[in-house]
Amino acid sequence: MKKLWRIVALVAFAFLATACTSSAASQQDIAERIDSEAYPVITWGVKVDTNLFGKYNIAENRIEGFDIDMAKEITNRVGGENAEAEFVEVTSKTRIPLLKNGNVDALIATMTITEDRLKQVDFSQVYFDAGQALMVPEDSDIEGVESLTSEHTVLAVKGSTSAQRIKEAAPDANVLELENYAEAFTALKSGQGDTMTTDNAILLGIMEQNPGYKIAGSTFTNEPYGIAINKGQDAFLNEVNQAIDDMVADGTYQEIYAKWFGDDTESSIAE
Ligand code: GLU
Repeated sequence: MKKLWRIVALVAFAFLATACTSSAASQQDIAERIDSEAYPVITWGVKVDTNLFGKYNIAENRIEGFDIDMAKEITNRVGGENAEAEFVEVTSKTRIPLLKNGNVDALIATMTITEDRLKQVDFSQVYFDAGQALMVPEDSDIEGVESLTSEHTVLAVKGSTSAQRIKEAAPDANVLELENYAEAFTALKSGQGDTMTTDNAILLGIMEQNPGYKIAGSTFTNEPYGIAINKGQDAFLNEVNQAIDDMVADGTYQEIYAKWFGDDTESSIAE
């Protein structure tokens, strides 16, 4: 019995210790912490199942994508050449809680800046422009969001703007929400839905690795991506914005953009 109490006490202590660390972490001034360390680490919440933005490469044992390269570059510009970017997996549903708990310093995770989200977190300036679209099997007769009726099931991801906005754009259609994009695509492949919806750039990333699918119609929302940072971290937010400005000005932004999206596509944020 005594042993059991000891275990209970230990578990309770561990829980309290974690709770304290994370609330202390979320209150700490990130810019001050970075300045005070010789080898600063900036922890980024990133996607790991999203080709072109954040995708785990098993053979190389690393996460790769546009968001990842942006995070690495911003880390060195904000923290100096000794700074290191560390990556933590997030999904559309877990990212805001993980940021607010202090598990990550920032989110760079295909995340649209919205009024609702701005009530909870701050955002950097826009670093990528996307728009919501539908992806269907090549032989589908769905021609766009206007084709969707109560006969159709649309696959979306929990916590995404796509899941919300499809309900407004196609109010009659059924929406099935999955945990992440890998699961949503598996559901599409196995016929659990007629179409999958999210940002065009994410869908293009899936199509690049999976022939037999196409985009149906055109984009029907604007999805400007921003880097999310906790409220009250103004110095860090300013440094991140300055880093993006500098990357656009010296061409680094366009280089990273071209690496992932091709030389012939020009980002609307870098004129
Ligand atoms: N950009 C959209 C969003 O922030 C969809 C992509 C995602 O789920 O991350 O919700």
